[in-house]
Amino acid sequence: MGTRVFSLILLPTLQCNADCEYCFEDKTNDRLSLERLQVLIDKVLDHLVARDIGGLTIHWQGGEVMTLPPSWFARAEDLIGRAAAARGLAVNHYLQTNMIGYSPRWNDVIRTMFGNRVSTSLDYPNLYRRRLGKDATDYNTVWTHKVRLARTAGIEVQVIAVPNAATLEMGAERFYSHFVETLDIRSFQVNTPFPGGESNPAKRQLPHDSEALARFFTELADVWLERGYHSGVRVGPFDELLNYFSSAPALLPCIWTDDCANHILCIDARGNVAQCDCWVASYPDYWFGNIFDCDTLGALLAKSQVLERFHQRPMALVARECIACDYLALCHGGCPVRAFSVHGTLFEKDPHCAFYQSLFGHMASAAARLARMAAEPRACRVVPVTGRVSPPSN
Ligand code: SF4
Ligand code: SF4
Ligand code: SF4
Repeated sequence: MGTRVFSLILLPTLQCNADCEYCFEDKTNDRLSLERLQVLIDKVLDHLVARDIGGLTIHWQGGEVMTLPPSWFARAEDLIGRAAAARGLAVNHYLQTNMIGYSPRWNDVIRTMFGNRVSTSLDYPNLYRRRLGKDATDYNTVWTHKVRLARTAGIEVQVIAVPNAATLEMGAERFYSHFVETLDIRSFQVNTPFPGGESNPAKRQLPHDSEALARFFTELADVWLERGYHSGVRVGPFDELLNYFSSAPALLPCIWTDDCANHILCIDARGNVAQCDCWVASYPDYWFGNIFDCDTLGALLAKSQVLERFHQRPMALVARECIACDYLALCHGGCPVRAFSVHGTLFEKDPHCAFYQSLFGHMASAAARLARMAAEPRACRVVPVTGRVSPPSN
């Protein structure tokens, strides 16, 4: 069996206990039964065997996954483990949750199925995340309590944060301090927001101005390089960009893969198959089909004209817009859903293009400075990763 790994974003429930303003999901009461999960996973694994792909990573998302009971996941893990073993495949599981429904009842399944690690979401300042019928302050309070409870049980909590207009105004230093020094989060990723799904006042502010995003991200990278890089704090996407520009193995976010449709697929609780969660939740015209209506997943994908358009996008952008870009081999035109949610077509480059170029240039310079430092005799070493020169450390 090959060594390639495929990613499946699986939404076993479309219910959610939150009501975030920029959510792109059409929340419903649909849930995946274990009987249907068996059918789904058999088709996915058979497809991987046919493509000589040796591993599957399942990213469990919702809705909110913790609206299902932990016992459902324990049985799902068993079912998937047996199906994978029968085909000689390896499966890893990742959990994305808002943590609102977390209680110690989840500890066993988080340990055995998810490697004692969860990924969750919090913005700072939080303007848009809230529980149903509550305000953002309540969300912060409940989230902080649940995250502390989980960490007390030894669970590693990684955070995804999305900057809003107030974040950009507040600046990178306060943002970093809040996550790392106040909340003691040692691993977080900053994603760019996009106006996916039905429009509303919060989404109409998107996308943010590229210059403001570039300023915030490059300042945040500098704060991290100065205060967290050497002490094991991980901040994405800076850590992986640094790897990339240092010619080290890098696990870059999907927005910068050559063709995300080659590596990722999403299936929701009703069996709809699409490129990722935003497509499956918001754009039914862009579904590839339904896994419960096909003989094999391979046949479903082979006859999907929508999928064919995803495959055509990178080359179309290279030919038209990105050919002269220094970062083409890294960025490939950026994310299809970010382009679509702003321009209404797949065949435009990512609206964050200018911001990406600034960030790539900044991280390339940082990688070069770190490489020069590593090559210097130790007694002469300073820490100029931010462009400021610190006193010698020893
Ligand atoms: S927690 Fe996620 S699915 Fe639920 S409302 Fe917020 S963004 Fe949407
Ligand atoms: S459309 Fe964008 S977010 Fe979705 S899988 Fe592709 S690159 Fe990732
Ligand atoms: S940075 Fe812009 S021009 Fe360069 S590959 Fe990405 S989208 Fe295309």
